[in-house]
Amino acid sequence: MRAARMHRYGERLVVEDVPTPTPGPGQVLIEVGGAGFCHSDIHVIDGEIRILPRLPLILGHENAGRVAARGAGVSSVNDGDAVAVFGGWGCGRCDYCVTGHEQLCETPQWAGLSVYDGGYAEFLLVPHERYLVKTTLDPVIAAPLTDAALTPYRAIKKSLPFLEPDHTALVIGLGGLGQYGLKLLKVLAACPVIVVDVQEEKLRIARDLGAEHVFSAADAELLAKIRAVTAGRGVNAAFDFVGSDVTLALAVAATRSLGKVSQIGLAGGATRMKVLENTRFEVQFEATLWGTIKELREVIALVESGALTPIPIERAPLEQINDVYARLKRGEVRGRAVITPAA
Ligand SMILES: [Zn+2]
Ligand SMILES: [Zn+2]
Repeated sequence: MRAARMHRYGERLVVEDVPTPTPGPGQVLIEVGGAGFCHSDIHVIDGEIRILPRLPLILGHENAGRVAARGAGVSSVNDGDAVAVFGGWGCGRCDYCVTGHEQLCETPQWAGLSVYDGGYAEFLLVPHERYLVKTTLDPVIAAPLTDAALTPYRAIKKSLPFLEPDHTALVIGLGGLGQYGLKLLKVLAACPVIVVDVQEEKLRIARDLGAEHVFSAADAELLAKIRAVTAGRGVNAAFDFVGSDVTLALAVAATRSLGKVSQIGLAGGATRMKVLENTRFEVQFEATLWGTIKELREVIALVESGALTPIPIERAPLEQINDVYARLKRGEVRGRAVITPAA
């Protein structure tokens, strides 16, 4: 099969022929119809996040496609079934796994980020059928739901107790995950949303998607303007889809007492929180990791019902994967770029 493999940190992916995997007992082989190119993969390829236990490795943790072959004992899917693939694979036995939080497993085996190859290839070997969610959606739409929608969904669902109708939410960064974050806030919460981004184009998208207030990240009066539209109080829940020093500092400073800051983006930033200095009392901080299998089912149900509409998708063949990397890094992808290995 054709696959895009990462051989070394800091180098381009290599599109080459590799053996097609054969599913063992309990495993399922998926023909990859869509593999979303995630911003996290840029951090991995560039060597900023060095978590890969082996190289070369096929990256790609946002996958959907059709069941191509089944190992012995697989009973919940049939050949040809269209599925979205949950990517937060775990051991299945630790406390996190047995309570449904498999993405938080003590020994994670995530698709395309562990010993297991990911979906930037014609076929993807999935270690267990429980990771498959059947769907009527086009795999190019379904693939980004498994991360770009699932991760903001979990962050927002866990922050809903902080978002009453007279409260305000803050979204920082309107890339693929931020756009799903804004859309999900509009579906799940009844409060106004402030969006901050560096690009004018992204602020225009935010207005189109119903954000009540949009501010440029370059605005010197940014924090004062956020306070002004929240009657001087600040926001009740901030969602940082960037995760840089600057954006984390903004999220903390903008959040009012009893509020919550959720970090979703992994740009490598850090911030300190000191009460009576840069943060209010009883502010909670949480770095969200992905979502659960059940939450993926919920996200897919939201899109299948029409309640949640997909973000813009750009399709790209496997051979163009390094161009996709470069365009995403330059901020030129409008919603999500999805690789289509089996097209
Ligand atoms: Zn991702
Ligand atoms: Zn586990």
